[in-house]
Amino acid sequence: MKRKTGQDRDVTTKWRPATQAVRGGTARSEWGETSEALFLTSGYAYDCAGDAAARFAGEQQGMTYSRLQNPTVEMLEKRIALLEGAEAARCMATGMAAMTAALLCQLSAGDHLIGAKAAFGSCRWLTDTLLPRFGIQTTIVDGRDTHAWEAAVRPNTKVFFFETPANPTLDICDIAAICDIAKKHGITTVVDNAFASPVLQRPMEFGADIVAYSATKMMDGQGRVLAGAVVGNEEFIETTLLAFTRNTGPTLSPFNAWVVLKGLETLDLRVRRQSENALKVAGFLEKRVPKALNPGLASHPQHDLAMRQMAAGGNIVAIFLDGGRKQAHGLLDAMELVDISNNLGDSRSLMTHPASTTHASLSDEVKADMGITEGMLRLSVGLEDPDDVIEDFDHALKVVGL
Ligand SMILES: *Cc1c(COP(=O)(O)O)cnc(C)c1O
Repeated sequence: MKRKTGQDRDVTTKWRPATQAVRGGTARSEWGETSEALFLTSGYAYDCAGDAAARFAGEQQGMTYSRLQNPTVEMLEKRIALLEGAEAARCMATGMAAMTAALLCQLSAGDHLIGAKAAFGSCRWLTDTLLPRFGIQTTIVDGRDTHAWEAAVRPNTKVFFFETPANPTLDICDIAAICDIAKKHGITTVVDNAFASPVLQRPMEFGADIVAYSATKMMDGQGRVLAGAVVGNEEFIETTLLAFTRNTGPTLSPFNAWVVLKGLETLDLRVRRQSENALKVAGFLEKRVPKALNPGLASHPQHDLAMRQMAAGGNIVAIFLDGGRKQAHGLLDAMELVDISNNLGDSRSLMTHPASTTHASLSDEVKADMGITEGMLRLSVGLEDPDDVIEDFDHALKVVGL
């Protein structure tokens, strides 16, 4: 019997997610390589002029130009779609290219978008600065307050946009409840799922239409390349999104796609282990600092909701110190193992001070409204032995008097 390849969609859709992450979407070349081939090519040659014309007319299957298609990128797109349980996916050069494309491809002047206030800094720049410049109205609500979404709906509302857990405050949005409201009003939901990854949370199972990723984070998972993805139904991806991305060009490089394919092979292992490690570190920290948050901690204000949507709490921990920026920077400077870095989802533990880095461009009012204080630090727990991370904190906390 013929062995199943990752391209047989009728077969592969039955595989469980951990199998998808290793094999989904794999297309072997004539050489039968086990590891996915890297097709570093910008163009494709045709057997005859008629073939070129037929491909451009969409009458012949095949690739035409790597801004539009590439075999390595396509393997990654199929794998991410299968992992998410979605019909289709398209990869982008970065997470922000994915967010921008997912929103701009469907919004026009005169439309209205509602976004959650707790969000990655650049996502807030999209909703607060970029979209209004093009005549797209935006309203920011507290994403945790399900009624606030309903109350903000206008006749021209087209999109709900939120991330959960949110960066960096770890606010949780009730995906099912918010998507129910959206469906009732014919609104499209776009969920940024970077923190959870499809291993811990698959928003479409709760009614989301579109899921967008920074694949830079958990999917690469080893701090190597930037990448992004937009996942949805075939109609949205093939018609609405593709018309935008084919002509604006936020294309993922085949090399970076190949690196993320390698990253996905260990996604299930890494995400689960990093979640466990983070819970252990957060459990230590909550006894030593005024406030520590991780959705997996029973003390997280939305722990029950988080555990209804997520298989585990994820690898991000937020801590809040009373001594402002001085103490927060002091703690960062006293750490010997954990790196000072604003990236996250790496196999190395990384920590940053959002108020002076990732969220520095937001006004003081917006930061205060989001809950980003001067004493807040965001920790991305890696794959080290968590006891080494705890020892590093134990020492550094003493240095800053905690
Ligand atoms: C990092 C991040 C992004 C942006 O992704 P890039 O790959 O850096 O462009 C968007 N949303 C969230 C939640 C992120 O953490």
